[in-house]
Amino acid sequence: MVVKRASAQAKKKTEDLNFNSIVSHQFDRAAGTMDVPRSLLEQIKVCNNIFSVQFPVKTKSGLLVVRGWRAEHSHHKKPLKGGIRYNEHVNADEVTALAALMTYKCAIVNVPFGGSKGGVQINPRLLSEEVLERITRRFTAELAAKNFIGPGINVPAPDMGTGEREMAWMADTFAALTPTGIDNLACTTGKPISQGGIRGRIEATGRGVQYGIREAMHDKRALKRMGLDVGLAGKRVAVQGFGNVGYHAATLLHDEDDCVIVGLSEWDGSIYNPKGLNPHKVQEWRVKTGSITNFPGSKTMKSPRAVLEFDCDILIPAALENQITLQNADKVKCRLLAEAANGPTTPGAEAILLRKDVFVLPDIFLNAGGVVVSYFEWTKNLTHMRFGRMEKRLNELDKQLLLSGIEGLIDRKFDEALRTKLSHSIDELELVRSGLEDAMSTAYHEIREIYFRRKKVKDMRTAAFVCAIKKVAASYRSLGIFP
Ligand code: NAD
Repeated sequence: MVVKRASAQAKKKTEDLNFNSIVSHQFDRAAGTMDVPRSLLEQIKVCNNIFSVQFPVKTKSGLLVVRGWRAEHSHHKKPLKGGIRYNEHVNADEVTALAALMTYKCAIVNVPFGGSKGGVQINPRLLSEEVLERITRRFTAELAAKNFIGPGINVPAPDMGTGEREMAWMADTFAALTPTGIDNLACTTGKPISQGGIRGRIEATGRGVQYGIREAMHDKRALKRMGLDVGLAGKRVAVQGFGNVGYHAATLLHDEDDCVIVGLSEWDGSIYNPKGLNPHKVQEWRVKTGSITNFPGSKTMKSPRAVLEFDCDILIPAALENQITLQNADKVKCRLLAEAANGPTTPGAEAILLRKDVFVLPDIFLNAGGVVVSYFEWTKNLTHMRFGRMEKRLNELDKQLLLSGIEGLIDRKFDEALRTKLSHSIDELELVRSGLEDAMSTAYHEIREIYFRRKKVKDMRTAAFVCAIKKVAASYRSLGIFP
């Protein structure tokens, strides 16, 4: 009954979809439950500065004027960190909101960066690689000229529409402009391994989503609220957006946790199969046909939002903001909403979902895996050494020695395969995954403690904001004020 009434009201109601207003509302809701001076809250909330630029780029059809932004939300920790988004609709408001989310995200997963975000208003699908490279290099030069990029200043990473390639171009341009900089590689993260990248960065956000969901699916109190049983095996999952984050989240949950991927969507449609889709096969199909739609054995719906209404246990929006709104919230059937994208749910929609006891894992926690591993990459670039390199051989020898000791005591030999396995020394990828899992698990438990213990905190998003504001406020307090 409640849901029906909410639905009727939703048709009449409009809501403010401005991303900045939404983040501001979320901040205020959390701040209202805390005992932090108003002036300090104001300093934490505002965006410190935003760089805005437009420049011409040569294309085969003439000059293209490109607009771009880089917002710096908070300097309480340096450098600042955040992705660069290539999208035809990106604007100053959007990057400002995303920069704020980065500050809170870093605080939640205990990564010592301030928040930033950039955007370039282009559709990368419509531009050649050559033009994209020119745009990326020119944008980097503009950022460098205004001190908005540098290993100790501001460190971009991939986001929607950008990836390893763009990060390598940016790092190379920065190095060309500052040829004596020994730490130049640390000016971006998400680079290819050959250009100072780190193993496990491409999958990091999707893997962080997997780790975050795993925590919730083993949290008995949270599961009681959702009405689901413990564990991930057999859970039905639907994913909106089959890009970097959505692809990795879907394949990892499918391969490692035995989830049934019942639905996927892309910008040109959604596909559904209650018996399960193999995300690897869907990817092969996309490479072959140019689209995930009409994947054999699945039902195709033209709307990219249809996936949000599929019957499933876990829904993972991994594409754009403002996807679950007053218009469709009452049709969402999942029990766990796992926000891999930034800002996929409006406050009005979230209120409807919470009334239905849907458990929401908020973006500022769940998609923080990318920045955690970016932090590892930045550290690696500053040390100029691969993780595990120095101690690898010593660790192996130590383990061999221990195994030989045990063999002596039990008077039996390990077989060679077991001996090799037991004496294996952890490598960079394993270190990265283990560090990421620890960061996500620790953050989950910090947030759920706030949620279940503080009466005024009614949902996980508010708990995540409380967690972030508390840490940023503590940092400002100990920092003091200059001059
Ligand atoms: P991406 O560009 O790799 O993938 C996004 C995918 O969504 C693309 O394949 C695109 O075609 C698809 N898409 C576009 N419109 C759609 C629609 N209406 N319905 C369904 N699919 C649609 O981007 P990404 O890096 O995977 O980022 C996705 C989301 O995750 C964004 O909100 C981003 O801010 C967030 N995020 C990304 C990272 C990261 O490390 N890449 C980190 C944190 C958060």
